[in-house]
Amino acid sequence: MTELRRLTSSVEETQALGRRLGDLLGAGDVVLLHGDLGAGKTTLSQGIVAAGRPSIAVQSPTFTLINEYPPTADRPALFHTDLYRLDGPDDLESIGLNDLLATAAGVTLIEWPERLGEDLPDDYLLVLIEPAGPDTRQIEFRAVPPEGRHRRIVDALITP
Ligand code: ADP
Ligand code: MG
Repeated sequence: MTELRRLTSSVEETQALGRRLGDLLGAGDVVLLHGDLGAGKTTLSQGIVAAGRPSIAVQSPTFTLINEYPPTADRPALFHTDLYRLDGPDDLESIGLNDLLATAAGVTLIEWPERLGEDLPDDYLLVLIEPAGPDTRQIEFRAVPPEGRHRRIVDALITP
């Protein structure tokens, strides 16, 4: 399976889904988080970071551009970035995202990947988040390319 949709009906449910996803991610995996402001990209990211790092506070990286969570005994490093304020390719170079992707040093989460333009990674997990009611979110997961390395994650998430 290369595509999966889930509905969550609270912040806690979205974070719990993020923790499930976080448990499946390894070094070199890239997650692109699409969705409007307030859709739930950071909320899902909080769950992803919390997998294996339960006591860490996750801030939205909107002002810092990139937040780094060091590796733990059983987790690779995690880089969480928000490109909303990105001002073009020079900025992209200066935050070091291209280097991160090239070295596959850890898990990379990217909010507002639209700012990358054509400059997308070859292989990633696409997550599309849409409000479906005040406290309900539709969260879709797609492996890109469909048979690429992220397919295993969609396969694993399918089990309820
Ligand atoms: P983004 O990073 O996409 O801009 P945030 O995760 O920062 O969005 O914010 C999501 C907002 O939506 C929060 O105010 C949160 O309380 C609210 N919300 C309501 N229902 C949900 C849900 N099911 N999942 C995630 N967030 C929700
Ligand atoms: Mg956000």
